[in-house]
Amino acid sequence: MIIVMQPDAGEAEIAAVEAKIRSHGLDVHISRGTERTLIGAIGDERRLDPEMFDPLPGVERSLHILKPYKLVAREWHKASTIVDVRGARIGGSEVQVIAGPCSVETVPQMQAAAAGVASAGARLMRGGAFKPRTSPYTFQGKGVEGLTMLKDAAARYDLPIVTELMDVRMLDTFLEHDVDVIQIGTRNMQNFDLLKEVGKVDVPVILKRGMSATISEWLMAAEYVAAGGNHRIILCERGIRTFETAYRNVLDVTAVAVMKKETHLPVIIDPSHAGGKAWMVPALSCAAVAAGADGLLIEVHPCPAEAWCDADQALSIDEFSTLMTKLRAVAQAVGRSIAPAANVVREEIAVA
Ligand code: PEP
Ligand code: MN
Repeated sequence: MIIVMQPDAGEAEIAAVEAKIRSHGLDVHISRGTERTLIGAIGDERRLDPEMFDPLPGVERSLHILKPYKLVAREWHKASTIVDVRGARIGGSEVQVIAGPCSVETVPQMQAAAAGVASAGARLMRGGAFKPRTSPYTFQGKGVEGLTMLKDAAARYDLPIVTELMDVRMLDTFLEHDVDVIQIGTRNMQNFDLLKEVGKVDVPVILKRGMSATISEWLMAAEYVAAGGNHRIILCERGIRTFETAYRNVLDVTAVAVMKKETHLPVIIDPSHAGGKAWMVPALSCAAVAAGADGLLIEVHPCPAEAWCDADQALSIDEFSTLMTKLRAVAQAVGRSIAPAANVVREEIAVA
């Protein structure tokens, strides 16, 4: 149930509503918007009725929520949420580009990648240290050492880092390494224990869509994170499984329009895992920005042919830089912007 407070409701009135909800054994989530405060009752709603709240001072109206997701629904939180990652605001007018290799491999590879993506205008850097590979015999990631390599390389250009958490037992290590954004991958979208744990920390989360997840399942997964108290959630569409086999996955651009309507959370697109081929990435990225995506997560490698993971879909630094120029024009056409290219010494981008 959601209790909508009157615009001038005071703290005592909000506290009274909260106490009443708690007295029925439900949890409370308070969302303070610029115009009014919304109070969500979390738990078995059947114990509550609008008549219990409507007469209370400061209450405008209260209602049962028909949709199973509440905290992430735009219905009760009209304003778009902006997730601020050390100054890179995701969900505002600037389309944020997160770029970097699929996996962290070596120090020179990471340094060249950081220099390259920073020079092209990416505001955040990605890199997987723990890799969810289909085969147990392929490279599984550098592990903790990879977190340090990513952090060190990105720090030179002041880029916040995005990296995937697969196992809840690594969460403390991620916090110790100051991971700026925790990525939950497609294979873990419904790992509810993992979602509950990242819901308890104060670190932004990129929640990728499960490869066969419906919009509603995806939103419910986000609700798990929000219900724990972490509202800094960024949703990432990365292609879904269909009957089509001509490309890795089908980029569901429709999901951007639908998600922007259903939820106040930012929505970004990963064109790399959607198409699975580098040559498809520019077209899919342009479509994503045109459709209203708040950001892109793009795989970029200083030497794609040598990549240890997902070599086929990685853009070279030059290709990425060309794409960024194109994307700025698309962003401008839809009333948005993308950070300009930065000045980085050319030698730093060269692969060592
Ligand atoms: C990745 O981003 O490196 C990745 C493994 O993505 P996904 O979970 O979308 O497959
Ligand atoms: Mn990858």
